[in-house]
Formats: sequence, structure tokens, C-alpha cells
Amino acid sequence: MPETLDLLIVGAGPTGLACGIEAVRAGMKSLIVEKGCLVNSLFNYPNTMTFFTTRERLEIGDIPFSSVNLKPTRAEALEYYRRVTEHYRLPVATEERVEEIRPVNQHFEVKTEQRAGRCAQYAARRVIIATGYYDRPNLMGIPGEGLPKVSHYALEAHAFYRRRVAVIGGANSAAVTSLELFRHGADVTLIYRKPELSRHIKYWIRPDLENRIKEKSIRALFSTEVREITDDYITVQSANGEIERIQNDFVFALTGYHPDIDLLRRAGVHVDLKSYRPACDPKTLETNVPGLYVAGVVLSGRHTNEIFIENGRFHGKQIIASIQGGAGA
Ligand SMILES: Cc1cc2nc3c(=O)[nH]c(=O)nc-3n(C[C@H](O)[C@H](O)[C@H](O)COP(=O)(O)OP(=O)(O)OC[C@H]3O[C@@H](n4cnc5c(N)ncnc54)[C@H](O)[C@@H]3O)c2cc1C
Repeated sequence: MPETLDLLIVGAGPTGLACGIEAVRAGMKSLIVEKGCLVNSLFNYPNTMTFFTTRERLEIGDIPFSSVNLKPTRAEALEYYRRVTEHYRLPVATEERVEEIRPVNQHFEVKTEQRAGRCAQYAARRVIIATGYYDRPNLMGIPGEGLPKVSHYALEAHAFYRRRVAVIGGANSAAVTSLELFRHGADVTLIYRKPELSRHIKYWIRPDLENRIKEKSIRALFSTEVREITDDYITVQSANGEIERIQNDFVFALTGYHPDIDLLRRAGVHVDLKSYRPACDPKTLETNVPGLYVAGVVLSGRHTNEIFIENGRFHGKQIIASIQGGAGA
């Protein structure tokens, strides 16, 4: 086994990178292990995506984020995080998934799987889990959800020109996707189980969607749940029990995401099974397993609208300060 690291960080999202920067600044021997590419979640956002957040609130490591517009595009963000990684010479191992974190005596054994199924193992005195949530969509558990015509992620709208598309959900992703699809010539039906749109929809997006619904450019079905998806139809049921069969070519099920709690639980972290929140000290972000920390949106469990890049980017400072204030790395 190679020499023991001071710190191993799981996930090279904005939070994992921010943690890595603080580790470099503190002179710790560290490694960031990422199952996909650098900032993999952002990479998987729709090509045409623009951030809700202004550029300075996405900055990490005191590196200025210059972009053409105040709210950067996905492409600009990818370029920015690459540049920061280069600047700090962050040690990142990509395409390597952390499979197991095991506390052993005074350190952790971390088992990974690399490309082509090769296994590797690391020893680290401390571990930060910054794995986000984007890989795990909340499933509805209805027949047809696994059909190839169902996506839990927004896709480029052009492909849906003149197609009958259902968007399931009522928060930001569903709102933005419905508008994009409508503007690219799709016939959009928005279906939401609650009586009105989520209050979390950004204030500049909401009126646009509400007006498109009012003028009937987008059909909206509130207090309605999807019961079944077939190749050519979806079946929905309203709160008063009425059932409707709607012709349909494609479904965007944008019903949110949740973090991977299995990795946390197997490492010994107590996780609340309702909220999916891991037990941790809010000051140090150390879990009930000494030396094992959580950072970024994984901290908020199912409540993924509590932590964003905007606030998760400060977790690295918090954790490294607590490590340095403690027994030392
Ligand atoms: C469409 C969309 C738009 C958004 N817009 C904004 C915005 O404008 N402003 C804002 O602040 N936030 C925005 N967010 C939210 C923001 O993207 C997330 O809050 C942010 O990515 C969280 O950062 P993170 O580093 O905690 O997690 P992530 O960015 O998800 O990073 C986690 C990383 O861990 C990796 N990983 C997971 N499991 C493993 C494993 N077992 N082994 C190794 N690696 C692993 C993943 O591949 C991923 O790269 C948006 C989200 C979406 C979906």
C-alpha cells in the first residue's frame, strides 16, 4: 500500500476542489478521487445551461471567475474549475470510484475501482466525503419509468421540436426545462403533484412560466400524479380521482435527486433514514466517525435546495481549520 495520505477527498465537484485547495494551503499530502471527470455533475448539466448564481459566488480558492455575462454558462464554469485545478496543482484522480471507506486503527482504508475494473487501495488519516447527489434521481416507482423515453436529466431541447413532451415536477429544473422545450417547438405538458409551482423557483423564471401557462402555450396539470408511462401514452390522475390518458413521445421526470447514503453508512456514519442527513458536528463537519467529514450538498440529505456551490464552497475552510486546530494533520 502507498504511503498514508493526510487527507483523501471523495468527489471532485466544486466542494471537493475547495477542500483540496485548503489542504494544499495547509501543506497536507492529499488526493481527490473522482468517479467521473472533473466537476462531473456540472459536466452533465444541459449544454445550454446558464447558472442561477452570479459568477463571484461560484469562485473557489480566491481565483476570480471572469465570464462574459454576470451569470456564467456551463462551459465557462467547466473552464474555470479546470483553471483553478491547474493553478493549485490539485492532485485529482479521475475515473476512479470510491467503493469503501473503512476506519482501521488511527486511519482509513479506502478501496476504489478504476477504469476497466482495476481495484486500488489508499490509506488516509482523514477522509472528506463530498459526493453531491446528482447521480441518484428520486424515482416515482410507476410502471414504464425505466423506458428509454424517460429521462431524469434535462437534455438539449432541439431534439424535441414538434414532439409531445411531458415534464414531471414543479421546481427550478422542471420550470427551466419546460420553457426551453416550449421555445424549441415542443408540445409541453407540465405535471406536478402539488396544487401550485414550488416557491423555490427563481423569481425571474417564475413569471415567464406562469405567463406561458396562462396563455396556454404550456399545458399545466397541478395536483396531478403520473400513474403509468407507455411507449405512446402517459396516464395521469388528478386529486379528485379523474384519470386521463395523454399521447406522449418523451418524459422528463425532474423529481429531484438524493445523495448516496450507502457509502456513508458502510463507513459507520449515522444517517437519518427519513431526511438522509448524515450525523455531523455543524461546526467542524466531522461525522460520528472520528476523522471522517462531510462537505457540500451531501450534508443536506434529501433537502438538496439548502446547499449549493454558493455555500458549500466554504466547507473546506471549515474542515481544514478544525483539523489544524485539533491534533494536527
Ligand atoms: C441544473 C442545475 C443547475 C444548478 N445551478 C446552480 C447555480 O446556479 N448555483 C449554485 O450554487 N448551484 C447550482 N446547482 C446546484 C449545484 O450544482 C450543486 O449544489 C453542486 O454541484 C454541489 O457541489 P458538490 O461538490 O457538493 O457536489 P457535486 O458537484 O455533485 O460533486 C460531487 C462529485 O462527487 C463525485 N462522486 C460521487 N460519488 C463518488 C464516489 N463514490 N467516488 C468518487 N467520486 C464520486 C461525482 O461524480 C461528482 O463529481 C445547480 C444544480 C443543477 C442540477
